Amino acid sequence: MRDETICLHAGYEPKNGEPGALPIVQSTTYKFDSTEHIGQLFDMPMEFMYSRFANPTVDAVEKKIAALEGGVGALCTSSGQAASLISVLNLCSAGDSLVSTAAIYGGTINLFAVTLKRFGIECVFVDQDASEEEISKAFKENTKAFFCETIANPALNVCDIAKLARIAHTHKVPLICDNTFATPILCKPFDLGADIVVHSTSKYMDGHALQCGGVIVDSGHFNWKNGKFPDFTEPDESYHGVTYTKEFGDMAYIIKARMQLMRDFGAYPAANSAFLLNLGLETLPVRIKQYCENAQKVAEYFESSDKIESVNYPGLPSSPYYELGKKMLRGASGVVTLVIKGGKANAVKFMDGLKLASNEVHVADIRTCVLHPASATHRQLTDEQLVAAGINPGMIRFSVGLENVEDIIEDIAQSLANV
Ligand SMILES: *Cc1c(COP(=O)(O)O)cnc(C)c1O
Repeated sequence: MRDETICLHAGYEPKNGEPGALPIVQSTTYKFDSTEHIGQLFDMPMEFMYSRFANPTVDAVEKKIAALEGGVGALCTSSGQAASLISVLNLCSAGDSLVSTAAIYGGTINLFAVTLKRFGIECVFVDQDASEEEISKAFKENTKAFFCETIANPALNVCDIAKLARIAHTHKVPLICDNTFATPILCKPFDLGADIVVHSTSKYMDGHALQCGGVIVDSGHFNWKNGKFPDFTEPDESYHGVTYTKEFGDMAYIIKARMQLMRDFGAYPAANSAFLLNLGLETLPVRIKQYCENAQKVAEYFESSDKIESVNYPGLPSSPYYELGKKMLRGASGVVTLVIKGGKANAVKFMDGLKLASNEVHVADIRTCVLHPASATHRQLTDEQLVAAGINPGMIRFSVGLENVEDIIEDIAQSLANV
């Protein structure tokens, strides 16, 4: 099936007489006929038993997202941060390290550089555009993962997933790709060699700014038996000696994430949240097309204004990522960044003068919104980290919504006139 069809039909296939819309199974528990049956679930958890780590409504959405990405399985989480965290902790323990591209979401930088460090996991950041040789230097004996973002939030760097996957595989580790801004409609990282995909579903997937969520998707392609991942190939004492590669084959990663980490951390979404996420997913392909179209026009408008110092959008020929984006993406998505002449003061003046677009701590909203990363989401970063993450202190992140694009541009024009 193609994306539009998957979005409407995958995951939940009602049988004769069953509801047409995905039912919300609002229940913590599931009833069984015998203690014997429940005992068996603890040996081989193949049915729903407790909604801290599995629920039928969430399960349907997991199957839909796995189908969209072309993976073997998915695990929904209560936020994008939880997805990034669990995707890494499923591979790294204290004493291990991971490599990450530097131009990634600010929250992920905090998680990797500060919080994981407290747990004894070191993250080495690399410039995604450096040569394979240069990037390879960051990999060590204890490196267990390579992390990147398809289109970086907010730097909008497009990463060459095929190149990064080659490097990861040379060092026998999986490539984890945060595909939030592209969504599986604009890019399918597994086709380019990535092994694991994560998303903040709070953004385009939910699409209506209703609730936070995340997801981890497993391609099923990575060889966990290459000697670097004993947690996958040796018995798990916390699970009656289950050996994930032996019992679950190509689903070892995603089942380990659920049965070990989700069981212990419990960052699972509620059924009602999954229902809302599913509504967003049903229209994702239609919405994404319009986001790309609107953002292209807004980016071109900014580029034509003499009050703007620079505009960054992978869909503009002036972007250093234009050619790579054309090759790798089916559209440049809905976020544009710009730097106004006159520095931070004019940036603030422009943003506060907008009437339609709102100032908010969100991105990829259905409504147009703006944010000044250096004083908000990336406030905790040093100037050095800001530059590495591709962020000019005067930069504005302009998240183009689904309003009529002429109205969005008129709003920009009236506010620019006062700057
Ligand atoms: C927002 C975002 C996250 C974090 O997701 P939450 O749902 O806010 O926890 C991770 N990665 C990217 C690219 C994001 O934009």
